[in-house]
Amino acid sequence: MQNRVYNFSAGPAILPEDVLKEAQENLFALPGVGMSILEISHRSKTFDNIINEAKADLISLLNLNNDYDVLFLQGGASLQFSMVPLNIMPPKNKADYILTGSWSKKAQKEAKRVGTVNVAASTESENFNRIPKQEELKLDPDASYVHFTSNNTIFGTEWQKEPEVGKVPLVCDASSNILSKKINVNKYGLIYAGAQKNMGPAGVTLVIIRKDLLERSSDSLHTMLNYKTHSDGNSLYNTPSVFGIYIIGLVAKWLIKNGGLDAMHRINKEKADLLYKCIDESNGFFKGHAQKDSRSIMNITFRLSSEELEKKLVAEATAAGFDGVKGHRSVGGLRASIYNAFPKKGVEALVQFMKEFQKKNG
Ligand SMILES: *Cc1c(COP(=O)(O)O)cnc(C)c1O
Repeated sequence: MQNRVYNFSAGPAILPEDVLKEAQENLFALPGVGMSILEISHRSKTFDNIINEAKADLISLLNLNNDYDVLFLQGGASLQFSMVPLNIMPPKNKADYILTGSWSKKAQKEAKRVGTVNVAASTESENFNRIPKQEELKLDPDASYVHFTSNNTIFGTEWQKEPEVGKVPLVCDASSNILSKKINVNKYGLIYAGAQKNMGPAGVTLVIIRKDLLERSSDSLHTMLNYKTHSDGNSLYNTPSVFGIYIIGLVAKWLIKNGGLDAMHRINKEKADLLYKCIDESNGFFKGHAQKDSRSIMNITFRLSSEELEKKLVAEATAAGFDGVKGHRSVGGLRASIYNAFPKKGVEALVQFMKEFQKKNG
């Protein structure tokens, strides 16, 4: 246990230590059940309680009203790139996509297989270093939905508030900032998120869908690709990610115990501010990738003056116990992913390390 390093990986990513310990303690046999979570039937009363409690806790954390359903699916956020257009692009078969990074582009690619995609805005020519402004959006008031990516994991940019899209349903890939702050879910038609960034292990994907949108899913869709199947079956049409849902449930309880999403947001901002302050006060030694008004509080991306120096920093950081700080190849440099579970003292330690590195190499 004392050998854990600081894990800055973008995903799968760090989980709360309390959650890992509880899961470890109960892995051999769930209390009162005598079987591991890895062995129980998804049709058992025990699992019924686990999935329903996870759902209820997420509903309470996100303050969801009865207009929304919560689904636990498989196939990652990447399958949602297909399920979203397959289910809710009809009957008009046209949708708006706002391109702010590699993941939104991948989402758009699948949507194009279903119907017509209008690129409402893109910041690709600036290597996705910012979020487009409201007045840049060229929205089609008759679109089936508007798709955006709330936090761009690779580029380190984040929407500070949702785009205004009028009456058109807003669809959001929130994989890397779900549960990092309170959001007004009533602004959304559908939110999806792979669990493995900020919520749980890989293998389960959260989908929050406004129930009226379920009416758009055609009966001719493949059963497993139809949101209605999973909504009707309480995500138990087939065997779900039993373990993944269990861990999401523990994470939700950990969030509630620690003050909920407002408390989480406050801490997340404090952590991100420490790193951005270090970057901003480095006299250009560290250069942030994201423009200031588009900065993510989950993924902090920055570069140094040469690739050689970046390599040196990554190597020395890794040796010092800061794991996973190498940036994605499309940005280069470094990326520190500091999701909910990442401890503030780990951020403080990295800042200290960066300052010393600058002193020696600046
Ligand atoms: C990681 C990530 C994805 C891909 O998730 P998978 O679950 O691996 O399919 C999609 N969107 C965003 C924003 C991500 O960070």
